[in-house]
Amino acid sequence: MSDLAVVTRALDFAARKHVAQRRKGAGEEPYINHLIEVAHLLAEAGADASVVATGALHDVIEDTDVTADTLTQAFGAEVSALVQEVTDDKSLSYAERKRRQVETAAHISARAKMIKLADKTSNLRSLVASPPKQWDETRQREYARWSREVAVHCFGVNAALDRAFEDAYRAAAKQAGLEAA
Ligand code: ZN
Repeated sequence: MSDLAVVTRALDFAARKHVAQRRKGAGEEPYINHLIEVAHLLAEAGADASVVATGALHDVIEDTDVTADTLTQAFGAEVSALVQEVTDDKSLSYAERKRRQVETAAHISARAKMIKLADKTSNLRSLVASPPKQWDETRQREYARWSREVAVHCFGVNAALDRAFEDAYRAAAKQAGLEAA
């Protein structure tokens, strides 16, 4: 399969699996907007086709009924392993999953760090463009701070992704009344 076919196939697959899901922002944007943004951030930063495809697929195990086996069959072992590296264990509590992300981010592969960083960048951009209605400034501050705690462990792999994250963080920190680092 050509690189373009791998990437567009991943987008098509993700669009079908996340079809009924919306983002939690006030605008209730279609979930696929987030996945396209992550894939695009990675492509713009010069990532290879497997990483860009994984950007589109990164939430498919966590948030749909797709299993790692299905992903391996559809996209191969490499993409499947990368998605698994950035997938939270949903049997754990929200707080425990958030804590683990900070702990594990330093130990994942360089390619998984790129995906994680693009994911966090997209989420902080969403927080600025369309904050969840029920999130007050304190909640936004906590989220922005936590995102950066994870992100710092992913810095140093790709300068363009580091910059994109820091720009998104600054905007989110400003909105939430946080002093930007
Ligand atoms: Zn995501």
